[in-house]
Amino acid sequence: MRVIVVNSGSSSIKYQVFALDDCTSLVEGLLERIGTRDARLKHRRLTEAGDWEEFVETRPVADHREGFQFLLEVAARHPAAHATPAGVFGFGHRVVHGGEAFRDPVIIDDEVIRRIKDLIPLAPLHNPSNIVGIEVLRALHPDVPNVAVFDTAFHQSMPPKAFHYALPRELYHQHHVRRYGFHGSSHQVVARAASIHLGLPTSRLNLITLHLGNGASATAVQGGRSIDTSMGLTPLEGLIMGTRCGDLDPAVPFYVSRKTGRPLEEIESILNKESGLKGICGLNDMREIQRRADEGDAEAQLAIEMFCYRIKKYIGAYYAALGRVDAIIFTGGIGENSARVRKESCAGLNGLGIILDDARNEQASSGVVEISSEDSKVKILVIPTDEEREIARQTIETIRRATHKKGHLP
Ligand code: ADP
Repeated sequence: MRVIVVNSGSSSIKYQVFALDDCTSLVEGLLERIGTRDARLKHRRLTEAGDWEEFVETRPVADHREGFQFLLEVAARHPAAHATPAGVFGFGHRVVHGGEAFRDPVIIDDEVIRRIKDLIPLAPLHNPSNIVGIEVLRALHPDVPNVAVFDTAFHQSMPPKAFHYALPRELYHQHHVRRYGFHGSSHQVVARAASIHLGLPTSRLNLITLHLGNGASATAVQGGRSIDTSMGLTPLEGLIMGTRCGDLDPAVPFYVSRKTGRPLEEIESILNKESGLKGICGLNDMREIQRRADEGDAEAQLAIEMFCYRIKKYIGAYYAALGRVDAIIFTGGIGENSARVRKESCAGLNGLGIILDDARNEQASSGVVEISSEDSKVKILVIPTDEEREIARQTIETIRRATHKKGHLP
């Protein structure tokens, strides 16, 4: 049987199909421009020869319901060539915000949907489209279990001293203002991969995981549990990102609003969409920024310097929080591919026992790669993230546990 992982966004649906037995990826796809007359579906399937075959189709798609019908129909027309029977074991949904209500993945029922809806004020851009995906698939396939896997869940282990803001306490009690953290599946999956690579159980490992993509976050993982993370109430806090500013003096938005006469909503949008790397140098794609920096562009050079300096400060902070660090892990599009960012982020940390091996760093290509020097006390690893596979794994586990509890052993 198969497990289908769904990431339902406001105008797009990302999906991936895995074999139940070994979690092999069989199909992946992206439907974009939902709500337009030329919605575009890119669908890739694994062939018998083990290659990927791609299909692109365009048609009008009014809403998510039509979107799911479209992609399920294309998926049925171009199934993966794999021995696994075609039935669907479960749908795994990526849900951005689980608030304090969800510490683990859950089987979705009406009550769970109601609680995810209650969290919409905390994630107004994401949770509503996540819910649409859940509701449409429940209606289309009422017999298949749906599981919600939350970006925030892994960080629910943070202690109060890490998750509270120093604000009047009623803002927490009445309005749930606290730090939640995101990218949970990614931090969790690379922490597990590090434990396999190092041959030590997660319970004995202290790690700093750095997810560096368009969004970026750092997490301090102690004994397999997140004890602190750089994103907060929203994914705006922490590291410098493609278009998000990360940490900022909270007075800045008010000052800018007074000076420019622009409303706070506009400034919120600037902090989310016009800041970060894009704000510093006009570009948010790290490949392009590195190219410009190599050509001598001073703003591109500054963007990389600032990006890496912020990462270095978090490494220092989380080193102090953890007391002992066994490994630092780089992941995400930038973390996995940019030797320059990894080098600059770790530069000058020899005093903490963090020493990069330049040649290994330059050569790191695919899979789990150790890029620290032999005399580095702290291992430095590059580990590809795989959030979808992690969601598939958690979906399978959650359904199996629930079936087991009910006494229906699979
Ligand atoms: P998302 O957060 O959207 O999943 P990704 O994890 O795919 O993003 O990361 C996207 C970022 O990774 C972009 O800034 C891109 O430029 C960067 N990136 C991808 N490949 C490279 C590379 N070879 N060198 C430097 N940066 C890279």
